[in-house]
Amino acid sequence: MLKFVNIERDMPSKRDANLRNKDFNEIYAEYADAKAKEQASRCSQCGVPYCQAHCPLHNNIPDWLRMTAMGRLEEAYAISQATNTFPEICGRICPQDRLCEGNCVIEQSGHGTVTIGSVEKYITDTAWENGWVKPISVMAERDQSVGVIGAGPGGLAAADMLRRAGLQVTVYDRYDRAGGLLTYGIPGFKLEKDVVMRRIDQLEQSGVEFVMNCNVGEDLSFDAIRGKHDAVVIATGVYKTRDLEGPGADADGIVRAIDYLTVSNKLSFGDEVPEYEDGSLNAKGKKVVVIGGGDTAMDCVRTAIRQGAESVKCLYRRDRANMPGSQREVQNAEEEGVIFEWLAAPKGFAGDPVNAVQVQKMRLGAPDASGRQSPEVIEGADYNEAADLVIKALGFEPEDLPKLWGVDGLEVTRWGTVKAEFKTGKTSLDGVFAVGDIVRGASLVVWAIKDGRDCADAVLTYLNEARAVAAE
Ligand code: FAD
Ligand code: SF4
Ligand code: SF4
Repeated sequence: MLKFVNIERDMPSKRDANLRNKDFNEIYAEYADAKAKEQASRCSQCGVPYCQAHCPLHNNIPDWLRMTAMGRLEEAYAISQATNTFPEICGRICPQDRLCEGNCVIEQSGHGTVTIGSVEKYITDTAWENGWVKPISVMAERDQSVGVIGAGPGGLAAADMLRRAGLQVTVYDRYDRAGGLLTYGIPGFKLEKDVVMRRIDQLEQSGVEFVMNCNVGEDLSFDAIRGKHDAVVIATGVYKTRDLEGPGADADGIVRAIDYLTVSNKLSFGDEVPEYEDGSLNAKGKKVVVIGGGDTAMDCVRTAIRQGAESVKCLYRRDRANMPGSQREVQNAEEEGVIFEWLAAPKGFAGDPVNAVQVQKMRLGAPDASGRQSPEVIEGADYNEAADLVIKALGFEPEDLPKLWGVDGLEVTRWGTVKAEFKTGKTSLDGVFAVGDIVRGASLVVWAIKDGRDCADAVLTYLNEARAVAAE
């Protein structure tokens, strides 16, 4: 260990931008065994590991790095999976620069962070290759059951932990495939689909039941699910798109990021998708403008490049340093041919179908109450940006669950997210818990996993207490 002094940080190799921008395969290669060992050995085994403190799951990072450096990979895997339901997924898509790696002590001392995410991915991919990842084998079955609404990372992490405790678990989802945004939001160049699907298979083989194409509130009522199970976990995510304002915003050719990405991801599964075939959600040969500066916008621009767009531009109203998306993703997008127009916001749209975005130039003004500089319009600097496909990627809000499901007793916050206790996910309804984006607002996969795991503990306590009361 401690080899950071003479071994430089080295990420797994990235495929050439001119090759990778034509397909949906992941852009980073896997570490070769020797390279993973070498990179793990750079860790200085801090007594107070800031990497671990800043990982939402508090993964035992120094220990798995040490095991990897020693070539004891099965033990590294055992340590890694003890705190994370999907380590290979987090290793691929966590914004490590803001979490574990951004707080690595040797990064702070100028030597370049330990490549924690890439090693985490390597460990679990190796575990899958060697057959160390097994379906859950339940020691003692219990007759109590839990209904989980939503098969995204939050719901799946809860389902996994609940099944391990011997409970009967049914997951309901309105999509035809499980995985939530892992399956239909995040594109294959960040997370290949078979990486998600093998996890779904593992849960199915573990006895978790999946009821797909079931839109709760429409195909099955929330009360019916509540009546059928001893406890319910709501993990429905956030899907209501923030809308654009300004004249012409309803024109044809202005589409929602989630629809655009879902169609593209369905194609990756080999599905036939009419909206792609008829061109409405297909960037091929088009001048594409994506509006927004978060991860969703980054995924849209890079998808449009891969679909063969004539040009792809991203408009964001603040500058590069103040965008919410990962800097690593911006760099990847630029390498692949995306052009960023910083300090630029849409004012209106010309044509129906759309043929241009009217753009107003912005500058950063005084900081607001949160300390963030607010964008201000520069008068007289407007221009037209030609566009025949405009993608709205301005963020997501929760759907109105109490109204959609007809449950008045389910309390929500003023932002519309479900009100739930921080550590347990307990909601205002007895035996009903909530996790992930529907509680936090649009967040991260790793936080959804953390919520799902914490909530499973609370559900178990609740069911144990219910059983004790029944036995009295
Ligand atoms: P979701 O993953 O949204 O899953 C919710 C599930 O509930 C869905 O399957 C949905 O179909 C189902 N559902 C909803 N309503 C109903 C209903 N009424 N009945 C039945 N089922 C229902 N995070 C990262 O950490 N890294 C990234 O790189 C990253 N990239 C992203 C890219 C995009 C394009 C988007 C949109 C998000 C990204 N995120 C990323 C955020 C991350 O995907 C989410 O924070 C995470 O998926 C939330 O998990 P969840 O389980 O709460 O919800
Ligand atoms: Fe880092 Fe995410 Fe892995 Fe935690 S789960 S160690 S934050 S990559
Ligand atoms: Fe190792 Fe960096 Fe974590 Fe310290 S902070 S234990 S050097 S990975």
